[in-house]
Amino acid sequence: MSTETKTTCPYCGVGCGVIARIDDAGTVSVRGDPDHPANFGRLCSKGSALAETIDLDGRILHPQIDGRRADWDEALDLVATRFSETIAEHGPDSVAFYVSGQLLTEDYYVANKLMKGFIGSANIDTNSRLCMSSSVAGHRRAFGADTVPGTYEDIELADLVILTGSNLAWCHPVIYQRLAAAKAARPGMKVVVIDPRRTMTADIADLHLAIRPDGDVALFMGLLAHLAGTAAIDQNYIGTHTTGFAEAFAAASALDIAELMELTGLPSMQLRQFFRLFEETEKVVTCYSQGVNQSASGTDKVNAIINCHLATGRIGRPGMGPFSLTGQPNAMGGREVGGLANMLAAHMAIENAEDCDRVQRFWQSPAIARWPGFKAVDMFRAVADGRVKALWIMATNPVVSMPDADAVAAAIAACPFVVVSDVLQDTDTTKLAHVLLPSLGWAEKDGTVTNSERRISRQRAYLPAPGEARADWWQLAEVGRRMGFEDAFSFPSAATVFAEHATLSAFENDGGRDFDIGAYARIDGAAYDGLAPFQWPQPAASQVQTTRFFADGGFYHADRKARFVAVNAPATDRTSADFPLTLNTGRIRDQWHTMTRTGKSARLSAHIAEPFAEIHPRDAMEIGVASAGLVEIESPYGKAVVRALVTERQARGSLFVPMHWNDQFAAKARIDAVVAPITDPFSGQPASKNVAIAARRLKVA
Ligand code: SF4
Repeated sequence: MSTETKTTCPYCGVGCGVIARIDDAGTVSVRGDPDHPANFGRLCSKGSALAETIDLDGRILHPQIDGRRADWDEALDLVATRFSETIAEHGPDSVAFYVSGQLLTEDYYVANKLMKGFIGSANIDTNSRLCMSSSVAGHRRAFGADTVPGTYEDIELADLVILTGSNLAWCHPVIYQRLAAAKAARPGMKVVVIDPRRTMTADIADLHLAIRPDGDVALFMGLLAHLAGTAAIDQNYIGTHTTGFAEAFAAASALDIAELMELTGLPSMQLRQFFRLFEETEKVVTCYSQGVNQSASGTDKVNAIINCHLATGRIGRPGMGPFSLTGQPNAMGGREVGGLANMLAAHMAIENAEDCDRVQRFWQSPAIARWPGFKAVDMFRAVADGRVKALWIMATNPVVSMPDADAVAAAIAACPFVVVSDVLQDTDTTKLAHVLLPSLGWAEKDGTVTNSERRISRQRAYLPAPGEARADWWQLAEVGRRMGFEDAFSFPSAATVFAEHATLSAFENDGGRDFDIGAYARIDGAAYDGLAPFQWPQPAASQVQTTRFFADGGFYHADRKARFVAVNAPATDRTSADFPLTLNTGRIRDQWHTMTRTGKSARLSAHIAEPFAEIHPRDAMEIGVASAGLVEIESPYGKAVVRALVTERQARGSLFVPMHWNDQFAAKARIDAVVAPITDPFSGQPASKNVAIAARRLKVA
């Protein structure tokens, strides 16, 4: 008899609802869930191909120690023993977890609890550091907490949608479909795309601003200075709900038009056109993604954008607000449970002694981390120089995806003890593991994820676990029990982990914390199984979901006011005589991360079959390469070789290369080996879109 299971797509931060069907012959098919508020039945090419990626080819089916099959007890005992011995000899900060936005919230919760509350270190960071940590830092500076003010519906309700650093059509395709449908239904709606490249998303734009890499801070400073002299400024909102406007305005107005043109690379006519559009349109949503976040000035970019929405009071009302689009399926869920090195849990702050005490009371734990741990780039530096001696990597492939990837590979290879939990036997990272643990894949996992609009949805298992594969939260809990923390890690099910997480979110909360899902603190297995998608917060005392934040203030700084942040436009040109071009890395429509899942689908791989570099015709001519010719790209950190794709969509002086392929596809296909490990000073997020490189034609003998 056929069965149908409602679950959630495991790829991007849109978080689409999926119905997985198993027919009488055992064949799996998927379709969009018409009842899910993120997608209302839509799916993109990746989501539609999910059934093509769930075979057991290449799966890890049993625990392994140094390449030989082991049983779970032996593997888990070894992990617990080696971590305990390392901590006893070198202290809690000598161990680290590097986890992933692919993990479910339940996995993240147990990992964070074990590391921060029982090991007593904050050395847990995540590949979400590479994805949206600048937005987190910007939210915390402006709002006092990491809160996304709006919802997807606001994008449809806006009269002006600004997409900055976002190739929405390829990277959040279902939101793009919703935007395109809204624009078709309301011809007066305007879209502005701010991107150095003319991407597919720019095809929908009424105005495309081909900005210089990292020119966004200057652009939004210019906008703030412009708005201050117009009727769009909302003095009442500024005076009642914010502080710091005078300083932010003074910094913004220090730039004259010539400097704005220089820093943004945009002609004055386009700048004025953009400023007037924003000024004259009340319902404005500004969406931003990796082009904003993955920058050495990423946090300032976020705050420069938020400044303009605060100045006009265009926040938290239908069709208005700044909107961070998260890259991964559960980047937001990881933030909720503190799965980053500088966060605690339930949006509490690791720098706040009262918050640390509260979490320690709740966990009844012997230790609590009281200062931030290593953020991703620093974590692998600490592995490289021996400060971290035992490392557990879960559900991610840093040998391909981290900047300065060759150095990361060398660091992991030299680390005395490396555990990797994954689904595939043969990734660039699993090869370096001393202990390899088989995890559950998308179709086998039970838990929750949170999408970009704060909506928590269930991922439900509809296929049995293959071999001896087990949930990531279970692996962590078993290691915690074996390290001597029996009571704290006796979770019988994912539902009990979720219930504890919900209870902590409401623990001793006097209303000063926004993330509260106390309504689910007593959830049982049956209710968890049937859990419908909902947005946080949802406190126990209220059944009403808060759809939007901050229309009437109520920010999370002590005075309940938002902060304008006085930002400065940074120097953005990193090129030199030896490295005269700029590399911009990103994603393509039909692949996900390092292709360990999407790479299984022939249909998806047919979209773009090989790694490539988009290059402007004049640059191509100067290095003597034609389309499909080989280009060697080099920085002081490494080299990669890809095919040239000569196109006027690419701005002069810069190349775009996708980050998906690895060296198993072709020697030197990992573009992140070229990316410099430069990070934003506030968020620690790597600057993957403005890398100084040299490019030359590769002659094949
Ligand atoms: Fe999955 Fe994102 Fe596509 Fe939705 S838009 S189906 S979440 S990849």
